[in-house]
Amino acid sequence: MMDRREFLKTNAKIAAAAAIAGTLQSFPATAQEQKVSTREHNKKPVSLLGFGCMRLPMKNGEVDMELTGSLFDYAIRHGVNYFDTAWPYLGGKSETATGTLLKKYPRESFYLADKCPTWLIESPQDVDRIFDQQLKKCQVEYFDYYLVHALDQGRYENALKQNIHANLLKKKEEGKIKNLGFSFHDTPDVLEKILNNHQWDFVQLQINYVDWSLQDAERQYNLAVQHNLPVIVMEPLRGGNLAVLNENAIKVLKTANPNASAASWGLRYVASLPNVLTVLSGMNVMDHLKDNVSSLTGFRPLTSKEQETLERARQIYMSAGAIPCTGCDYCKDCPMGIRIPSLFAAYNTYKTTDDSKKKDAFNRYYNLATRNNSTPDQCVQCGLCEQHCPQHLPIREKLKEIVALNKEINRV
Ligand code: SF4
Ligand code: SF4
Repeated sequence: MMDRREFLKTNAKIAAAAAIAGTLQSFPATAQEQKVSTREHNKKPVSLLGFGCMRLPMKNGEVDMELTGSLFDYAIRHGVNYFDTAWPYLGGKSETATGTLLKKYPRESFYLADKCPTWLIESPQDVDRIFDQQLKKCQVEYFDYYLVHALDQGRYENALKQNIHANLLKKKEEGKIKNLGFSFHDTPDVLEKILNNHQWDFVQLQINYVDWSLQDAERQYNLAVQHNLPVIVMEPLRGGNLAVLNENAIKVLKTANPNASAASWGLRYVASLPNVLTVLSGMNVMDHLKDNVSSLTGFRPLTSKEQETLERARQIYMSAGAIPCTGCDYCKDCPMGIRIPSLFAAYNTYKTTDDSKKKDAFNRYYNLATRNNSTPDQCVQCGLCEQHCPQHLPIREKLKEIVALNKEINRV
């Protein structure tokens, strides 16, 4: 967490930025509707809340276009102008749905972000082929923000080998990309190398009040600041975990402010960092969207007292021992069909639920996770999931713990 002096300095900068950005709304406001606060990039306002399209609502295996359309419309009416999609999201369905639903809005009224799936690039032609398909799927002529997706050391080596950055820079010169950046999941040392080696317009980092220390997000953020790059924040609520926390941590937050949701604390925490341009949140329920919009409308950075409260809640939450899985599902191709994030959700529910309700809560989630008859004891230790996990979780070890926990509580 930031120290007190640093935090107050940060807040002063944000108040000034908010004052400037407040005059630059891109959507006309109606008299009644409040708009999400904005930050400035290239002299244009970007909404502090960004719509993450990784977890759009689904119905019968397809994106629920009616509900997603209502979510987009509400978001746009309330000033959200940044939409983030990617090639692998929802098995390729996110790009198509996002493009289709944004089509009715003037192209210059929203920012669309898409990403190059680095791990699928085996030749420079792959970059062009995928990029052209993405433009078609999204029904646009250009991307406002385009990212080399999920770089880590291994993927960066492939990106270098396939000359991805130079290729994308050419697209930027042609006007097909307005801002070029990358999203990142590795150590600060790797981040520094990537920042030093190329010219970037922005960077997308996983920042939240747990990863600030747990995954060295503080150093990553500071590196972005040193390079004078705006930061797009992903996973501000760690896949929704910080919107739920646990009972005791919630108590701390509710005592401090009975009206504020746990999610609003998490969003305000990251938005309080002055180099943050937008905070992406995957919103598939209207109530969550409304809460997020309200948290970042007339934005107030956390005060130092609120920081202390949040730190107390964080400590309580961390002491419960939950697995820091974000539910991204990048590990979905387990050859044994094991539903890893769902099993981790069962484990985390057990760890964070009151003693009297623990067993029932675990069993409910465990039964859902193993509905396809793939149980964690079927893991053949191939390690494929761990290669794909951006959080670098020791998945095999944790699955063994879940097997043991199931045995212990159900005597099976
Ligand atoms: S290590 Fe186990 S859980 Fe991971 S992919 Fe292999 S079989 Fe699946
Ligand atoms: S285990 Fe890793 S890859 Fe799988 S859902 Fe969790 S964070 Fe994502």
